[in-house]
Order: sequence, then C-alpha cells, then structure tokens
Amino acid sequence: MKEIQYLFPNAKRLALTFSYDDGRAFDRRVVERFNHYGFKGTFNLCTSLLDRPDYLTTAELPELFAEHEVAVHSCHHPFLERIARSQMIGEVLADRQNLEAIFHKPVTGLAYPYGTYDPEVVATLRTLGFTYARTAGDETGSFRFPQDWLVWRPTCHHKHALEFVEPFLTSRYMLTVLYIWGHSYEFDRDNNWELLDQIGERLSNQPQVWYATNGELQHYLDCIHRLVFTIAQDTVYNPTDATIWLRMKNDSVLTLEPGKTLRLE
Ligand SMILES: [Zn+2]
Repeated sequence: MKEIQYLFPNAKRLALTFSYDDGRAFDRRVVERFNHYGFKGTFNLCTSLLDRPDYLTTAELPELFAEHEVAVHSCHHPFLERIARSQMIGEVLADRQNLEAIFHKPVTGLAYPYGTYDPEVVATLRTLGFTYARTAGDETGSFRFPQDWLVWRPTCHHKHALEFVEPFLTSRYMLTVLYIWGHSYEFDRDNNWELLDQIGERLSNQPQVWYATNGELQHYLDCIHRLVFTIAQDTVYNPTDATIWLRMKNDSVLTLEPGKTLRLE
C-alpha cells in the first residue's frame, strides 16, 4: 500500500474558516475586515429579519457577500428541535428558498439557531438535502472536521481564537481545520473590535493556509471521501468535480484531476 497524505488545494496543509450568524448590520464591518485580510466566511442569515433596523438589507446582500458564502439560519430563528416537524421544515426551506432567490444558486449549508438540534432535526435536514449544519456551544477545541457534516462543531468562538493560532499554525496533522464562529454584534457589545484585527494580523497571509468558506471546505473534504481506490491501493479514481492534492511518502505532490484515474507510484 502506498502511503499518501491529503492536502488542501494548492498543496496547503491547513484550512481556516469562519461562520457568523444572524445577519446584523455589524456583519458589514466583519466582511470589510475579512476582505482586507483575505479571509473567507460563511454568513448564516434569517431572511425574515432582513431589512429591519440594525439588520442587513436584502438589496445589499449579493455585493456584500460576493467573496463569501451565505447559509440558512431559519426564517424566524426558533429552536428547531422544539417546534413541530412541519414547522421546522417550513422554517429552513423558506429561508433557503429566499436566499436562493437572492443569490441564484443552491444554498445547502445551515447553522442551527441557538446552535441546538436533536437527532430528528438532523435526520430531517439530511432528507432535505442540506450538506452541512453548524452547531454552537459545544466547541471542540480541536482542528478536526466532523464525521457527520450535519453536526459540525466549530473549534472555538472568536473570543478564544487567539489561543488557537499557534497550535494551528504549527500543527503537523494533515487536513487541519481551524473553525471560528461568532456574531458580529458581539464585537460591538464586548467593545473588542480590535480582536478581529488581532486575529487578522496573526492568521492572514500564511502560505500554508487555505482560506475557505464552510461550503468550500465541506465540499473538498467530501470529495476526498468519495475517491475510489483499487484493492491494492496503487491506483485511485477521482469521480468528483474537485482537483484533489496528494503528498506521497517521498514528499512529491500530485494532483488528481476530476474524472481521472491516477497510478500512485
Ligand atoms: Zn442565531
């Protein structure tokens, strides 16, 4: 068996992703700083809250989030596990449909309102075709990605992000993911906008880091999972639409193009 390591796109060892909830007007300031630092984020929006005072406007969304991802956060922000199943389905599908009508593309990511869920909610989201769902309040403090994408626990809230910078940048594990979440209004409430710049200064322009939205990260890791190996493990077929990056035992880096079969020698 050939020993291989998976790498992120462009042979990066590490990935950084952010997730911000609720679509408050303070998101504008977060997006401006993300664009300055070259970060990619996922912004989880409740479409029934848009156009209210202190929230984003529908009209500004496509331009504001042009370099980022938007995902579902339900229409009205209920606890999804506490309402009737039919209501829960309505909440997530209406929000998804509203976002898809604004952005003209499928929106299949989600962040649980309040971060909470139960097994029925997870099973229902799977049936509805959601590809990932982020939790909150149960941060892993680790750089691992989840076994079940519909229970995607972040590494940390942004208030703890600086503690993870050094362990992240020096991690020797493959496919290391630092996942930071929060709410933009918390920077204002906690009067610590400088924290966002500290995170930016320490984590931007790192040659080993892939800056990705939640959806880009989930898709790439899912494509790795879908690679098909021969029993002898000496040949691999890539049935996905992503170019997969591999490092062989002798340190050579290979790319596995979509639809191609590669002999690992
Ligand atoms: Zn929320």
